[in-house]
Amino acid sequence: SQPRPAHKRILLKLSGEALMGDDAFGINRGTIERMVAEVAEVVGLGVQVAVVIGGGNIFRGMAAGAAGMDRATADYMGMLATVMNSLALADAMDRQGLVARVMSAIAIEQVVEPYVRPKALQYLEEGKVVVFAAGTGNPFFTTDTAAALRGAEIGAELVLKATKVDGVYSADPNKDPSATRYATLSFDEAISKNLGIMDATAFALCRDQKLPIKVFSILKSGALRRVVMGEDEGTLVHA
Ligand code: UDP
Repeated sequence: SQPRPAHKRILLKLSGEALMGDDAFGINRGTIERMVAEVAEVVGLGVQVAVVIGGGNIFRGMAAGAAGMDRATADYMGMLATVMNSLALADAMDRQGLVARVMSAIAIEQVVEPYVRPKALQYLEEGKVVVFAAGTGNPFFTTDTAAALRGAEIGAELVLKATKVDGVYSADPNKDPSATRYATLSFDEAISKNLGIMDATAFALCRDQKLPIKVFSILKSGALRRVVMGEDEGTLVHA
């Protein structure tokens, strides 16, 4: 018989920046289609997938706040940027034959349905991909924290943090050829080595809930599938 996935339900965190591809801003169509193809592969394996997407390709509250804008207002703009990315992602998923549902932490009823936990769980059970939009719904937080929060809420077995590099390395692999990838790290090791895997709030939530984090590359072909199959891919941060 076919090997079975190691995980039943996962929370995938995609950064907004990843959507840009090689562009300087916005959403690169080819890039989003490649990401969705990776997701479709694991949905096809029967894995339940929830996604949190960032907004950094469109707007970052912290940067605007530092430049003088009221921080909370800037953060609401950042959250709205994640709604735009969520709509684009769900659209690309629908075009590739997945059934996607966007749920927003901020009420924008004419555009997307609100986040209601039991409904999200129902969609997941039905094999639909749930895209959580608008982060946590609160300023001063990040979409990494939203990923940790929603991951804990839906009982995900793993939070997958997609980055440009295919894991956590002992040094920058683009600068230092002797850099090695960590296959696993404990939460404490990640803190003591100051690896900055997620922001402190997100990281603390995962650690408290003993929710493991896998750092991997979404654009490395087949990497997401290897992660859900439990193969040696990326870096696992665990309790
Ligand atoms: N944001 C927020 N609260 C949240 C999640 C996001 O205020 O719970 C805002 C914040 O301004 C942030 C922006 O939305 O800069 C985009 O999210 P993030 O920076 O996490 O996106 P990414 O870096 O993953 O693209």
